[in-house]
Amino acid sequence: MKELCGRYVVVSPQRVVENACVVFDERIVRIEEERGVPENTIVTHGLASIHTHLGLYPIRTTIAGRARLDEWVSRYAWPWERMLRQEPELSYASAVTALSELVPSGVTAVADMHFNEERVAEALLKVGIRGDLSVALMSGGVYESLDVALAENMELVKKLAGSDLLRARLGPTTPRLLSPEEFREVVDRAEELGVGIHTHIAEVPEDSEHLRMRYGMSLRDFIDFVGLTRVNSIVAHAVWLDAEAASSLVHPNVAVAHCPTSNTLLRDGAAPVRRYLDLGARVGLGVDVSPSYSIIDEIAMALALHIGRGDLDFWELFEAATVAGYRALSIGSGLIEVGEVADIVLWSVERPVVDPVASLAVSGSVAEAYVGGRKVVEEGSLLGVSGGELVELRRNVSGYVKKCCAE
Ligand SMILES: [Zn+2]
Repeated sequence: MKELCGRYVVVSPQRVVENACVVFDERIVRIEEERGVPENTIVTHGLASIHTHLGLYPIRTTIAGRARLDEWVSRYAWPWERMLRQEPELSYASAVTALSELVPSGVTAVADMHFNEERVAEALLKVGIRGDLSVALMSGGVYESLDVALAENMELVKKLAGSDLLRARLGPTTPRLLSPEEFREVVDRAEELGVGIHTHIAEVPEDSEHLRMRYGMSLRDFIDFVGLTRVNSIVAHAVWLDAEAASSLVHPNVAVAHCPTSNTLLRDGAAPVRRYLDLGARVGLGVDVSPSYSIIDEIAMALALHIGRGDLDFWELFEAATVAGYRALSIGSGLIEVGEVADIVLWSVERPVVDPVASLAVSGSVAEAYVGGRKVVEEGSLLGVSGGELVELRRNVSGYVKKCCAE
């Protein structure tokens, strides 16, 4: 049996226990109160990033280059992804290097959508955290056809069946890269397989313009037509939804993945997160593509982005990253409760601590992290990957970056 002790243990976004230890094996066994614990320690549930592209980590800084989404995709993402499709090893190296930043920010579960996901799966297993993986399905684009992409995604679902840490879903990328019929076909397939989907909707206003001009559909019509609520759905961004479309996302099967840094740097706009929360929608956080791949930076960015737009506080954002994120991935409750999976993080924070959750966002560093009771981070570094391996992988990746995206 192991234990993690904190001056503060944040057992839920509503409740903090002082001077307590969490006792666990693969699951949480008990919480012992009234133990003497060092002042500057906090224990929380692990955090989830529910919209991530680990394979884009090597080109993460390009989103700060003043391009809007479509220009950024055609200038940086497509060339990188075409190369990556030919080099599965690059997906592995990109994912491990991304995880070396993401996991020491407190992330213990990640929903990833990209290519060569079987190699991304290997990276996640090497690091030891939970993954929910999907292939970026599109009609053409990086693939010869949707059928080729879908076959790859179905194969992934088959391969990951029965895995302890990993699972798969289907990844219809966005309404602009699949027709409504194709998108609906993917949802049908997901329903048959008993898996969810992961998609981008309304990151930019062009999604609804495209649907209106090409198919005479509103976003609400589209969401209804494809039957998004029939399966567990992660909807990334949801920035440009009118009230009608927004209300259709208020459903126990749907989680909005809010990605404040990429939305800011690509100047997509601010998703109406306050409105979603007030309506009762589930909203989690995603690092998407971000210069830091740190979920704590996403919390800080979200706080800033929403000032004057229906403010959010640290506790709501912590809830988004734990409870909403874990429930979106159907892993558990996202709470430190007896019987829950032991995905737990021990943080060091600067004193004085006036608010434990705010402290994480302003001065937290991860001392230890556990996934299913297994230690994956010690003193801020991954245990599954050596320093030497990381240096080698980074060197490998930077050679490809030069080929793809020289300044
Ligand atoms: Zn994305």
